[in-house]
Amino acid sequence: MARLSIRQKKTISKSIKLTHQELNLILNYNNDWDNLNLKPIKDRIRDFYLKEQNKLCAFCKLPFRDDIHVEHVVPKSGKYGRKEYAFVGINLAVACKHCNSKKSTNNDMIPWSLSPYPQSGMYFKILHPHFDDYFKHIEIVDNSRYVRKTLKGHNTIERCKLYDPKILEVLSECMRYQDDPLIQGVLRLREIQGNFKATIDNFINAIFR
Ligand SMILES: [Zn+2]
Repeated sequence: MARLSIRQKKTISKSIKLTHQELNLILNYNNDWDNLNLKPIKDRIRDFYLKEQNKLCAFCKLPFRDDIHVEHVVPKSGKYGRKEYAFVGINLAVACKHCNSKKSTNNDMIPWSLSPYPQSGMYFKILHPHFDDYFKHIEIVDNSRYVRKTLKGHNTIERCKLYDPKILEVLSECMRYQDDPLIQGVLRLREIQGNFKATIDNFINAIFR
């Protein structure tokens, strides 16, 4: 399954554009991510990036097993959090429960006091899903482990604990099928979202259940 994502230059090729109405609402509620009135916007953000990321977590590149979290690359809260980036499209991605909780409110942006969001991956110590090519920094070796290729890759593996046995178990399970042309073909069909999406999803659920 990871092979599908190797084709992607960056994990995310375009960021969500919020409408004026949505931006006004966010302003009214003072960028408060947890305000219930902003939930529809959060849902739209989650669905947008889920599709954009081909239903793979931004940090482990594995399919979602349980909750789908909207991940703030620069955290919205905590000691180094930046609330003003809570709804900035380029700061957002979707991540699995494991990666999101391990990353927590750690901030891996280099000290940056300006208000506009940095526009390059060089300002981040870990992989930035909007700027960086995942497989330039991390390699999946022996279909069973994540190996750093760069310092950023190392930092990302450490930050998200991509050596956790639970994650490696899922990785091995997914990679079992990467050389199977039939399953890869089916996954490719699902990726392009053809008319057979529901049938294909049932098929995939049967395989990966
Ligand atoms: Zn993950």
